[in-house]
Amino acid sequence: MKKTDTRRVDTRFREDTDAGPPRQRATISSVSERRTAGGSRGLPVVHDLTLEQHDGTILEFETPRLGVESRLDVVTPILAQSFPVCPICLSGSPSEKEHIPQYALGGRVMTMTCSACNNGLGSKVEAELQDWFDYALVSVSFEHEDVPGRRRARRLLYRNGPSGFCLLIEGDLAPEIQQMLDDGTFQLHYRRPDPRRYRLAALKHAYLAACLYLGYVPAIPDAEAVRADLLSARDSPKRSRPPAGEYAERLAIYRSHKPPKGPPLAIVATRPDELTARREYLISRAGVMFVSWPFPEVPPRKGIQRLGNSPST
Ligand SMILES: [Zn+2]
Repeated sequence: MKKTDTRRVDTRFREDTDAGPPRQRATISSVSERRTAGGSRGLPVVHDLTLEQHDGTILEFETPRLGVESRLDVVTPILAQSFPVCPICLSGSPSEKEHIPQYALGGRVMTMTCSACNNGLGSKVEAELQDWFDYALVSVSFEHEDVPGRRRARRLLYRNGPSGFCLLIEGDLAPEIQQMLDDGTFQLHYRRPDPRRYRLAALKHAYLAACLYLGYVPAIPDAEAVRADLLSARDSPKRSRPPAGEYAERLAIYRSHKPPKGPPLAIVATRPDELTARREYLISRAGVMFVSWPFPEVPPRKGIQRLGNSPST
């Protein structure tokens, strides 16, 4: 069963509960993206926007800024490489170009995977990672008492600001939805991106990035467990929720509201903690999305056993 958050939304600025004031209409006076000069895929189309109401009031909204600022050092860029096997299922036919992260999020071709892993896993989990990154609400539909059934919209982008929040409807608007918006009272149905799916997508990218950093497919138990989680997601029935993965659940994932910076894919480290002198290692995607190093027991600087390469051979 799909869980749907249902909220009743009244688009009027309510001052009087009896009749309600006339709705305020506003004009979009500016919109900015987060793309760099050369263009960069995968960043939200609308980063911030300003509305001017007819009475001259300005309303400003932007991508939410949550969490704390943290300084990160680039340890090393991660470069593209292919392996003799598919690094996810270890089959011997890696024939498909694999973008890390996915193409829609600005990823580049970084390695090759087999077609089952490339198509079967990505299609189940990667769209939700983009939705999470964009602060989007998904499975959106509108309902009105005078219109039978529901009318679907692609996504809603959530942006907030000092005067509250706004929801931007992405894509073409069905005429019936426009009528509901004009009327002002309707039921809005949506759900948030599924953490189980977007965490599995982040785990896939972190794992492949770790293989590229190491230069080989590791044989340690952590890596075997990650591969098992990814394969059970890949092989789960279409349209059903993939099984939860232990490694995916404990992955740290961060997103930054700032413009892209640094290498497209890199290992970065937090500044050492004052008490333990420990650094936390993360995989950075152009400085806008960060996922923790996927093998918690073995930091990236330590030697990691190579798959199929025992000391005696
Ligand atoms: Zn594979």
